[in-house]
Amino acid sequence: MYRGIGGSAGYGVGKAVVISDVKPEYVVRTITDTDAEIKRYEDAVAVFTEKTRRMADAMKERVGEHNAEILEGHILLLNDPGMEEIIKGTISGGTCAESALESACDMFSSMFMMADDELTKQRATDVADIKLRMLKILTGVPDTNVADVPAGTILVARDLTPSMTAGIIKENVEGIITEVGGKTSHSAILARALEIPAVLSIDGIVDKVTDGMNIAVDGNNGICIIDPTVEEIAEYVGKKREWLVQKETLKVFMGKETVTADGKAVSLYGNIGKPEDAEQVKSCDGEGIGLFRTEFLFMGASQLPSEDQQFEAYRKAAEIMEGKEVIIRTLDVGGDKDIPYLGLAKEDNPFLGFRAVRYCLANEASYRVQLRALLRASAYGHIKIMVPLVTCVDEIRAVKAMVEVIKKEFDAAGIPYDKDIQVGVMIETPAAALIADLLAKEADFFSIGTNDLTQYTMAVDRGNAKVAYLYSAYNPAVLRSMKYIIESANKAGIMVGMCGEAAADPLLIPLLISFGLNEFSVSATSVLATRAVINKWTKEEADLLAEKALSLATEKEVMELLKSSVR
Ligand code: PEP
Ligand code: MG
Repeated sequence: MYRGIGGSAGYGVGKAVVISDVKPEYVVRTITDTDAEIKRYEDAVAVFTEKTRRMADAMKERVGEHNAEILEGHILLLNDPGMEEIIKGTISGGTCAESALESACDMFSSMFMMADDELTKQRATDVADIKLRMLKILTGVPDTNVADVPAGTILVARDLTPSMTAGIIKENVEGIITEVGGKTSHSAILARALEIPAVLSIDGIVDKVTDGMNIAVDGNNGICIIDPTVEEIAEYVGKKREWLVQKETLKVFMGKETVTADGKAVSLYGNIGKPEDAEQVKSCDGEGIGLFRTEFLFMGASQLPSEDQQFEAYRKAAEIMEGKEVIIRTLDVGGDKDIPYLGLAKEDNPFLGFRAVRYCLANEASYRVQLRALLRASAYGHIKIMVPLVTCVDEIRAVKAMVEVIKKEFDAAGIPYDKDIQVGVMIETPAAALIADLLAKEADFFSIGTNDLTQYTMAVDRGNAKVAYLYSAYNPAVLRSMKYIIESANKAGIMVGMCGEAAADPLLIPLLISFGLNEFSVSATSVLATRAVINKWTKEEADLLAEKALSLATEKEVMELLKSSVR
């Protein structure tokens, strides 16, 4: 049994098809007719662009616009003027197109790999994908055709590149296993969109598998078994059947109100990273957007997005949601989210450093651009502004003051905006939790970011595997914190939501109901499952469980209690 990261939920059993990403061989030549070589390169780019565009169109039809954008991004990246200049410049110096392309791609790849955040690192995979496909076009080696694999296939690859994933016929692929990639890697995103179980990040798996081997995949727990026994095959086939029945059962919650078993309504929203993701939230029956992580907009660009670019993005999300609430978080840079062109200095303790609202308030000019874009977009839907990583009242006051100044400017200039726009606070630090009563007097709403709240409360780096045993929202310290935040908001009469991963945790949901949480914001694919769990608990039952949980001293005891009470 091999353990990796569960990148896409579900179970599958099938026969391996190993996808090779071996680079085609070529001889490095010195070129004398460099114009002809540049023309050969340009022809290859044209073929690449045409092929990729066709794959993107096919993808758009099968899994939606957002996923096709990954492939469209490849076209942009290859046609990027900087990239083009370097490659053509190298060819002009007498290097053959293959070698010029390869060295430019390798340079961009290592630049992206040096970044701290997963998203920028992901671009290195994109560049590697482009390089491999371009080299195949230039050398005339045929491309891997994932579209031809037979029914019942488990795809095994070092990394499943977006161009490979684009060819997948969903009905033929039982599972995906890769050596690299995390939950937010493109292969994971695409696997989820195709609803194919995937286990990522299993070191050296490609060398352990040969074509035709039986494999069982468990995308829920990030496990795969090579050469499973007859019993194991039966077990996984059974799990798959159960999983599909469960998924089908959840469909009855489509279009239903989100209510507890005793009829108390709560809001159930979705988290997004790009405006287009709102489409998926809507199709999964999310009732609004509880967290729009705007940093992805900034990470995907090579310079600060302009006011108009931001306005368009925020307006798009608001319009897709057709008047439903869209909570947009202002730039949450720093910590594990680097934006190279901001030129932030390396810090010894980036999670405790110059990040999020601290950075924004120190860079008022660029923060104003974001706030102006948000206010302009608020005329097109129901936007709320949310401020991340707040630790003191001064910060929310400063942001609100900036918003007020912009409102006056807009009034004077006759620019439309939502005059009742709310400005809320993301509660994700122990400092904010401890002064939740004071913040509740200043903020229009709260949203609890349990990913960071757990990290800061437990003083445990959320990405450090060595201390991961401490990173759990079941810790009594985190539970007490959540309870106090929610009660403070309720007392002050402001809305309190949760947009961290804990909001979708079936074990924690009854406690959140008991504490009085008003809004749950989860990933699009968790909307129906969350609605189903909320629907199983009455307030009275949830209160009883919460009382017991809060009387326990250790994380383990809490987890055992919650596990034994799960419905
Ligand atoms: C959180 O901290 O819980 C949160 C939702 O924000 P992020 O995961 O983007 O830090
Ligand atoms: Mg956070």
